Parts: sequence; C-alpha cells; structure tokens
Amino acid sequence: MLDASKRSLSAVCGCASGSFAVTAVSRRAMLACGTSVLAAAAGGFAAKSFAQSAPRRIDVHHHLASPSWLQTMKLIGVDNPLIVNWSVQKSLNDMEAGGVATAILSGNVPQVRPLAKEAATRIARESNEYAKQLAMDYPGRFGVFAMLPLPYIDESLREIAYALDTLKADGIGVLTNYGDKWLGYSYFEPIWDELNRRKATVHTHPADANCCVNLVQGIPQTAVEWGADTTRTIASLIFSGTSQKCRDKGVDAIFDAADRNLVNRENALHILPRLNST
Ligand SMILES: [Zn+2]
Repeated sequence: MLDASKRSLSAVCGCASGSFAVTAVSRRAMLACGTSVLAAAAGGFAAKSFAQSAPRRIDVHHHLASPSWLQTMKLIGVDNPLIVNWSVQKSLNDMEAGGVATAILSGNVPQVRPLAKEAATRIARESNEYAKQLAMDYPGRFGVFAMLPLPYIDESLREIAYALDTLKADGIGVLTNYGDKWLGYSYFEPIWDELNRRKATVHTHPADANCCVNLVQGIPQTAVEWGADTTRTIASLIFSGTSQKCRDKGVDAIFDAADRNLVNRENALHILPRLNST
C-alpha cells in the first residue's frame, strides 16, 4: 500500500519504488517491509489503517528543500526542476493526492555530501531546523528524518545529538553511499554505534556512487543504479556484521529504492556472511 502514495511523492527525486527494511540477517528481516516499518518510522504518529478513502498513509520517503540548502545546491549546479520547484504547499498537495496523513521529511540527494566540512555542517543544521519548524507549523502532517553532514564523522555525531535530543527528530536520514564508501564500511562505525545506542530509526536514500555514474548511455541513474546501490549498501551492512549488531540493540533501518535484485540475492546475503565467518 505504501507504493501507491510513493509513486507520486517520491518522484521529487526521481526514484519511485517501495521502502525495504533490514534490521538483521534473517529471512524475516530481509523480507520485512510495510506497516511495521512505517510504524517504526513514524515515531509518535499513529497509523490505524491505510484505507484508500482517508488520508491515513505515512510517507517515509518525502523530501523537502530548505532555503539555504536549495541556494547552495544552485551554486554547485544541482538545479533539477523537481528540487527547485519544491514548496510546502506542493508537498501538502501531493500528500492530499496520495492520501497521506503524515510525511516524514528528509533531505533530497545529494544532501550535503558534495560540500566542504563547514558548509555541510551548517547547511545540514539549517535544513534540520527548517524541517522541524514545518513539523511544528503543521502539527501531525510532517515528521523529520534529520540530515547529517556526512562524510564528516565528528560533525555528524554532534548533529545526531542535536537532532534527536533537541529537535526530537523522528530519525536520521542518510545516503546509501558517500562516494567510495558504503554504509557497512568501518569508517561509519562511530555513526552506527551512536545510532545503535539510541535505538534510532534510520532512513537511507540511494545516491550516485563514484564507481557507477553514467555506466550505460541513455539510462538515468535512478532507473538501475539507485536500486543497485541500495543493494550494495545492504550487502555491506550485512557482510560487515553491522546489521546484526544493530539488530541486537534495535536500530530500524528503512531502505528506499531497493530493487528486485535484492530479493533475488536473498540467499547469498543470508548464507554467505555465515560461511565467511566460519
Ligand atoms: Zn527520494
């Protein structure tokens, strides 16, 4: 049921596929998706049903474009019309059309990944505060998955604390990769340790990886690569043992744009990590 609303809403970033949750290396977790994930992601928002007739859906893949983030993106040449033309009213209109009661706001690609440390830290903070203000201005309509100034670890740890302690964000939003690093890399271990300690909800969004831009002429990145990159980062989390570690504490992870390739590789992702550890 999630997909129906996501097809219209997630078009803002060009990816329109279901969310997929993995919190453990198990068949149950590999196939876990849908209402349990939404409930976890929604924090205090109650979702009694997803009836088509009433706006009761919770959209966990819904982007905003804060003024300072948008201005910065224009400066570096990221001026996709779908991003530039975002407005609060457009979000509300899309939610109405999709029967969405509550949308959890997250940063659009490339978030602040291309920026230097100071700018990434500042823009992430401003975007998160802007998102929180929207959540307060429209009670019950918006939640917040806070953006982190990754790949800067210390600054991201500070933003996790600010977002979850001060802003009371519903969770954290990250990309599937940071150039040449996927989420299971040891580089991100301090981030996962902190999210794990807090039992946080984590939303991941696909992004272009350094290795895989314009691989096939004429095919948009969103058509194949974003789904593939979600699979890469899920595999990275599983093979590194991160997913198992987070499962023990209770991190809920939401993966947008997981493709059928992930399901086809379920056995490999389920069995191979165990074989490799013996
Ligand atoms: Zn998106």
